[in-house]
Amino acid sequence: MTLTQLQDQSEEALKDRLAALKADYEQYRTKKLKLDMSRGKPSPEQLELSMPMLDVLSSKSDMKAENGVDTRNYGQLDGIPEAKRFFADLLEVETDEVIVGGNSSLNLMHDTIMRGMVFGFPESSAPWSKQGKIKFICPVPGYDRHFAICELFGIEMIQVAINEEGPDMEEVERLVREDDSIKGMWCVPKYSNPSGATYSDETVERLVSMETKANDFRLFWDDAYTVHHLTDEHDPLKNVLAAAKEAGQPNRPIIFASTSKVTFPGSGVSVIAASRDNINHFLKLMSSQTIGFDKINQLQHVRFFTEVEPLDAHMKKHAKLIKPKFELVLSTLEEKLGGKGIATWSKPNGGYFISLDIVDGAARKTVTLAKEVGVTLTGAGAAFPYGIDPRDRNIRIAPTFPSVDELKEALNVLCTCVEIASIEQLLA
Ligand code: PLP
Repeated sequence: MTLTQLQDQSEEALKDRLAALKADYEQYRTKKLKLDMSRGKPSPEQLELSMPMLDVLSSKSDMKAENGVDTRNYGQLDGIPEAKRFFADLLEVETDEVIVGGNSSLNLMHDTIMRGMVFGFPESSAPWSKQGKIKFICPVPGYDRHFAICELFGIEMIQVAINEEGPDMEEVERLVREDDSIKGMWCVPKYSNPSGATYSDETVERLVSMETKANDFRLFWDDAYTVHHLTDEHDPLKNVLAAAKEAGQPNRPIIFASTSKVTFPGSGVSVIAASRDNINHFLKLMSSQTIGFDKINQLQHVRFFTEVEPLDAHMKKHAKLIKPKFELVLSTLEEKLGGKGIATWSKPNGGYFISLDIVDGAARKTVTLAKEVGVTLTGAGAAFPYGIDPRDRNIRIAPTFPSVDELKEALNVLCTCVEIASIEQLLA
């Protein structure tokens, strides 16, 4: 078959093609594959890059932070000063606009929403949970664990499409202007999970300045991939806190980030950055929750990186390991699915994912077919609230964890399954 769009093929030609693809598929079954492309995890080689960090501290080390605080002991809830400075530089905010947390930014996001539900924010007339139905805007496709937090707290999710400039701002502005139960919005503003999009300056400006009916509306600005560039051409992202201050809405954004995919997921350092009002509000509530986060890990990280520039050099080493994997995905998709009119995909400059859109109604079937021959993909619909992709067409590809050889095999299976599911959908 030539590269004629499959939709234009005769039924007979499609059936022939389907038979050939099914024969390939049966071959994969005999290989008893066990490949996993389901989650955006760093590969073992990437984890090796940070092993020297474990030698930075030893039993002979001076364990005092620069203000004399002993990192081995209780205290310093907002983080040791050198860690605060490091993250403030990274996020281009002031040191007193930062709390350096524990090992997980998702944990900070979860707790921030829980505090909103239980206590509200400085401007809230009552805790969110006492204000009736609460809703969040969720750009889709998005990060499944954000949506899981909303689901956990019974927060209704409103889907808004994301394009190359960020979320559909016409729609976002309309929604927040009219509905005071919309209290928040999830944003992964740079190299979005999974679309790879980076919000344009205009999108950031509109988000911080738009009129919201709720006076305690918050942007949950998850800058998880802020330093995760794949090439030397970095997507620029406007400083949201500075823009919010300029727009007279300093309390609107709450920025989250972590070193999970810089050093070690599960053993990195997280950070929350926001206006001083927000930070003071959080610190007051946090002081009942913990006496302080893991300062030894903060010290270890800051002594390893010292400042932002060496961190950028470290991220280049990550990029060197994962860029070939992204290139392999893109070239395989082009070779196997290009020109067939059944698939489009993102071409990100950073982050951890490639978002693949196929024929409507074919994603779930593709994932099931792949699973049956030993290739685990992220569940179809995972990137949508409640796990339901209304068009059943999106598949999230996470290329970083498998080796290049494993990835090659997994992609061949994926493309075969996409074409089988698409042709079956066209023939249905
Ligand atoms: N935010 C996004 C958008 C992610 O993709 C991930 C992990 O995949 C996280 C947050 C998790 O962050 P952490 O490890 O700091 O909890």
